[in-house]
Amino acid sequence: MKSSILITGGAGFIGANFVPYFLEKYKEYQLINLDKLTYAGDLANLSEIEENHSRYTFIEGDICDRVLIEELFNKYDIKGVIHFAAESHVDNSITGPEAFIQTNVNGTFTLIDVARKYWMNAPFEYKEEYKNCRFHHISTDEVYGTLGDTGLFTEETPYAPNSPYSASKASSDMIVRSYFHTYGMNVVTTNCSNNYGPKQHKEKLIPTIIRKALTSEPIPIYGDGKNIRDWLYVLDHCKGIDLVYHKGKEGETYNIGGRNERDNLYIVDKICTLLDVKQPLKGGKSYKELITFVKDRPGHDQRYAIDATKLETELGWKADEDFESGIVKTIDWYLEEYR
Ligand code: NAD
Repeated sequence: MKSSILITGGAGFIGANFVPYFLEKYKEYQLINLDKLTYAGDLANLSEIEENHSRYTFIEGDICDRVLIEELFNKYDIKGVIHFAAESHVDNSITGPEAFIQTNVNGTFTLIDVARKYWMNAPFEYKEEYKNCRFHHISTDEVYGTLGDTGLFTEETPYAPNSPYSASKASSDMIVRSYFHTYGMNVVTTNCSNNYGPKQHKEKLIPTIIRKALTSEPIPIYGDGKNIRDWLYVLDHCKGIDLVYHKGKEGETYNIGGRNERDNLYIVDKICTLLDVKQPLKGGKSYKELITFVKDRPGHDQRYAIDATKLETELGWKADEDFESGIVKTIDWYLEEYR
């Protein structure tokens, strides 16, 4: 019989890149994709999966709905969870933090607590047949707070979240950690840097730059544009998750990052330069003329950078794309999408 894995948030950016990759690679898995289809989820992101695929089921629902989650565990005999579902946009967490606490904190708690009860007999013991069932929690490097000009986040860096988004993710990481230490549950957590690539919601930085450029609108850049992020092509993140899900040590956390630190000015400049060649503006103008600096985001972290040594040395992960190759693929995808 095929093993059923519950994927949450599979209609969002990273989940919708992960699900087709995982479905294709592991023919022995049945994937159950649970997604609430908030503004950030879109089934069109999964249109490459054939209708009535025999190993794929989509369920519209909320990770906070305990009755539904219990039903899913019983109906599909869930043997693993890969948990992407979250409210994920920092700006939205500033204007409306409540949904972040609800989904990211309460939702993660509900999910892992149902998994514990389903997989374990008594509070501290696994049922024999569920010993290898794993709960993989997907998290962010934003839980570590901000860096100065030097240094990198390692798995030992103390948590210091600065936005309601990162605080809610930090809380969910701690809940997952506690289920390992208290109940001996087989959990792993991955903390990844900023992703980019196909299917990202239009509100995020790189899709915004491309979209505004192509519609000749001002391209907004926060503050002085000097904030630095460590950019990772989304499929490299998916491959890292795959490795950790299958080979990571239980109870451990793994940082995932591509060693591609770039500031926002570099990103916008690079995208405009590539677009100037791929889709030139009339009159020899450059898309760079559309760049507009706007008031900075409150509590805007200055710099994030990941040390992925643990994942690289223990599990042999390496990013296939650097920023220069990944951004070309990304722009080509959006040019096709917006055509
Ligand atoms: P996203 O916002 O694009 O997608 C989130 C998905 O979760 C959507 O499909 C949405 O409908 C679903 N969802 C939201 N609330 C839900 C709920 N209550 N119940 C069920 N489904 C719900 O996010 P993303 O960028 O794909 O991020 C996925 C995960 O990866 C998140 O946990 C995020 O914190 C983490 N992460 C993201 C990045 C990044 O750069 N995007 C980096 C590191 C970690």
